[in-house]
Amino acid sequence: MLTKGIDVRASRTHNVGLFATEPIPIGTAIWNPCVKCSRWSKEEVAALPEARFAALDIYGHLLSDGSLLLPCLGAYLMNHSCEANVLDTGLDFGVAVRDIAAGEEVTCDYATFTEDGGWSMECRCHSPRCRHLITTEQGGDLMIRSRWRGQVESALRHAAEVDQPLHDVLVELSEPYRRVLKGMTSLEQVSTGASVCAPAFASP
Ligand SMILES: [Zn+2]
Ligand SMILES: [Zn+2]
Repeated sequence: MLTKGIDVRASRTHNVGLFATEPIPIGTAIWNPCVKCSRWSKEEVAALPEARFAALDIYGHLLSDGSLLLPCLGAYLMNHSCEANVLDTGLDFGVAVRDIAAGEEVTCDYATFTEDGGWSMECRCHSPRCRHLITTEQGGDLMIRSRWRGQVESALRHAAEVDQPLHDVLVELSEPYRRVLKGMTSLEQVSTGASVCAPAFASP
C-alpha cells in the first residue's frame, strides 16, 4: 500500500520514480507490504521462467519466507538513494525520515531489503554519502544500521502526531505501528522483529 500525495514522474536518476505532490511530514508512513500487493510463493518463484523472474526481481523484493512481493499502487517504483527520505529499519512499513517537499522524489534504501541476498546495484544518486555500489549485505552493516536507526527513531517521535493516510491498513497489519500510536518511539519498544521483508501477514 502506498500513501496518498505521491505520483509517478520522470526521474533524474532513473526512468521514472515516485514524487511527492504535496508536502509529506516526517513521521508519515509511506508504504507497507499489504495483502493487495502481488505475491508469488517460494514454490511459484521457483517455477517462474528465468526471464520472468529477472523482470519481477527488478521491482519486487524477496520476503523472509522466500516469496516475492511486488508492492501495490506503484510503490514498487520507489527508487534508491543513499540518503533516502524513507526508511523501514526495524519496522514493517516505510516511514518518512525527514520532511519531504512537494515535487521532491521519494526514495528508500535498497540495502534495507536484506532478504535479497547477493543482490547489488551501481548507484548514481549523487548524494555526498553515496556508497556507489549498493548491496543487500550493507543492510547488516552496524554503522549503516545505527545511522538508519537514529533516523527512524527521530521519525517515530512525530508519527503519532501527523496525519497517517495508511492508518486503517497499518492498524490492522502492523504491531509496530500500533505501538507507535501508544507513544513508543525507540526501536527496542516498537520493533517486533517484523520488517518489510517479514511482514506479519506472510506465513512464518
Ligand atoms: Zn500493498
Ligand atoms: Zn548512492
